Amino acid sequence: MHLFFVDVILPVALNQTFTYQISEAEYNFIQKGCRVVVPFGKSKVYTGLAYNLHQTPPILYTPKEIIQILDVSPIVLKPQLDLWQWMSNYYMCSLGEVFRAALPNHFLLESESMVKRKSWVEVNEHELSDDEFLVYQALLIQSSLSVKEVAQILNKKKVIPVIEKLIQKDILQLEDEIVQKYKPKEVKYIRLNPDFDSEKELTNLLNQLGKSPKQRDLLLHFFQWKAVELQKPLSAKNLLERANGSSGILKSLIDKNILQAYFLIEDRTDFSSDEPTKTILLSEKQNIAFEEIQEVFKTKDTCLLFGVTSSGKTEVYVKLIQEQLTLGNQVLFLLPEIALTTQLVSRLRLFFGNTIAVFHSKYSANERVEVWNQVLEKSDKAQVIIGARSAIFLPFSNLGLIIVDEEHEATFKQSDPAPRYHARDSAAVLGQFLKAKLLLGSATPSIETFYNTQNNKYGLVQMTERYGNAVLPDISLVDLKDKYFRKQMVGHFSHELIHEIAAALNRKEQVILFQNRRGYAPVLECTTCGHVPQCPQCDVSLTFHKFKNQLRCHYCGHSIAKPSHCHACSSVDLTTKGFGTEQIEIELASLFPTHKIARMDYDTTRGKDGYDNILDRFQNRSVDILVGTQMLAKGLDFEHVSLVGILNADNMLYHPDFRAYERSFQMMTQVSGRAGRSTQKGKVIIQTYNPSHSIIEKVVQNDYLGMFEEQLHERYLFQYPPYYRLVKITLRHKDFEKLRDAANWLNQMIRAQLPIPILGPEEPAINRIRNLYIREIIVKIPADQSVGNVKNKLRRILASFDAVSQFKSIRVTLNVDVY
Ligand code: ADP
Ligand code: ZN
Ligand code: ZN
Repeated sequence: MHLFFVDVILPVALNQTFTYQISEAEYNFIQKGCRVVVPFGKSKVYTGLAYNLHQTPPILYTPKEIIQILDVSPIVLKPQLDLWQWMSNYYMCSLGEVFRAALPNHFLLESESMVKRKSWVEVNEHELSDDEFLVYQALLIQSSLSVKEVAQILNKKKVIPVIEKLIQKDILQLEDEIVQKYKPKEVKYIRLNPDFDSEKELTNLLNQLGKSPKQRDLLLHFFQWKAVELQKPLSAKNLLERANGSSGILKSLIDKNILQAYFLIEDRTDFSSDEPTKTILLSEKQNIAFEEIQEVFKTKDTCLLFGVTSSGKTEVYVKLIQEQLTLGNQVLFLLPEIALTTQLVSRLRLFFGNTIAVFHSKYSANERVEVWNQVLEKSDKAQVIIGARSAIFLPFSNLGLIIVDEEHEATFKQSDPAPRYHARDSAAVLGQFLKAKLLLGSATPSIETFYNTQNNKYGLVQMTERYGNAVLPDISLVDLKDKYFRKQMVGHFSHELIHEIAAALNRKEQVILFQNRRGYAPVLECTTCGHVPQCPQCDVSLTFHKFKNQLRCHYCGHSIAKPSHCHACSSVDLTTKGFGTEQIEIELASLFPTHKIARMDYDTTRGKDGYDNILDRFQNRSVDILVGTQMLAKGLDFEHVSLVGILNADNMLYHPDFRAYERSFQMMTQVSGRAGRSTQKGKVIIQTYNPSHSIIEKVVQNDYLGMFEEQLHERYLFQYPPYYRLVKITLRHKDFEKLRDAANWLNQMIRAQLPIPILGPEEPAINRIRNLYIREIIVKIPADQSVGNVKNKLRRILASFDAVSQFKSIRVTLNVDVY
């Protein structure tokens, strides 16, 4: 008798596939890359992926049968499976973990998945099948149901397709899903009060306004527009730009009921009506870069576009994307931060209209599945995919080009959970599988990437000038030690910085202030006994947030109301130490009471729209000064910013991390790059206690190469990347002693078997988070050793570690190429 089997990837951390028995008909029907529903353990049901079909029975167990086949054709293709395999191998995790990360949640229903009704959706009950109707009814009574419970209600095993269908029909959603309730973005438009719509009234009006020349001027600009564009709506933003007026003046005219404001919806996700409206015209320098990149791609797969801030890298990308589209290829554009997509999408859609699709984790399940399918079908609607790192998992089949913008950004590396992959490096591998080229872009490339250009692995193309007449800003330093000594400080602002802010505001320009710490102050300290409130669950002090009057842990989220007295000695003399964005915002408000100030950090941007709103308000100039953390450093393009202030350069420099200097250089250079992006020359002021620090010098001189060489030398001396590859092994347990014993045991094993540099076991700077103690061992693999061999040995050592019974409860995680 012939037997047939399928090996299935399941979304679990065990590093193996699982074999199930199938019939001959199923064997002939199922293709590699289709989903199947299978039983697992005593009572679980999982959605898995068919990975291999064969006729060899497993030796160790009697296989169960599959429950159901979900797809008639594969939803992932060979290049994706190859990528998963590579990732699981390289990043030392299970194929199942990659599978779980790769597919949109709703492709992965399992018995424990909870679904609920979208209560706001109107349902036409006649359009439901009998099964769908029963599930829907049940959810009118009960707020949520597990897949298992649905199976009981329908009294059958094969229920996942029913649920998938209901999700597709937008009736159900996964319970843990963060749904972005769709909120249309509104744009403010301006029209004339119809009462004034006659020549005579108009003349009267203009005469009346003789005493308010600015209002008169704004109104004249309004009429100029009307004369040319007739019925076309005029946005408030557009009007203010044309008239170079302020929103205050516009408001007066609206208050007098001369002009009226009205709102139209600008649709963000549906670009269908947008045909490309713009053609790209590269500057001479950009054109040279474009041609050089094409030349590089003739012999190399990867190229770095090293272009100073505002050199117009995006324009070069546009031209390259256009080339790919004429060849009928797909293009993947990776961004370091979801929050940047809105700005980029609106820029790219001018050129590519409705061929652009966006894919990221904050989109709803449906939107993600839709994009997934469009990519799979090579639809015209998804030729250019813009996304954050998880977009590399999409089922591309004719990808021509991958662009990784701001490639130096650490957010491309996933730190938790597994797979702890670097999207840039994984993109290089995906490129190999799909024969796609990879373009990395940055004004401050990572040391690793630049090193790869120096040893000729990657090509290098440079743009050293800003687009148009813009020049790089002047950077000047303020010595904080000296200023405090001479009492030339107001709060955290030096007289120079205050002066420059005032001057910029006077010229109607905008200001960005950077402080790499959120909250009001990092610590609250008792002046009597020195006690600092700590998080009860983590080894860190709590951060003071003034607006909420709270102390909060930035590691686990634990918060308490601000104490009125010291918990140790009951003294009421509590003082704050250090400062964060909140404090800067408050100080600014008293320094510049008539100007609008906004703050952009993790606390103010938690929802997707939070970020967009702040950016919109800054872009349309209803905000004059923007205070923020490193979020500000990421590739934002604002035309009217002429001054950037860095309030304290030092806390970045003294991070206990081998990348601290590199990062500080990148951060300061990138933040500085927000200044003077159009014609007027920008200015940057850096406040620091160490004006002669070599990194700060390099920032001032815009000396990337100098920084690179210095850092490379240090990395060589201290055995770090790019000369060594790092694998960080982290052990966690709530019992301190047990953890210490385990870490020592593992450390000895590794040192005995691997004659390469090993660090640890160390207690990290923060040695307890969420009540778990932490120890780390760092394995450094020299460039001349086989990474594969070392990892194999590590795997064997970890397997024997797992086999020791008293270490069973220790949590071990591996982070390859830790960032
Ligand atoms: P980068 O990404 O290198 O910092 P951008 O691509 O954001 O630079 O370009 C900076 C500014 O210059 C943007 O406002 C952009 O629209 C403008 N710009 C650059 N190149 C061109 C071009 N060829 N034609 C028109 N505008 C351009
Ligand atoms: Zn005290
Ligand atoms: Zn905590």
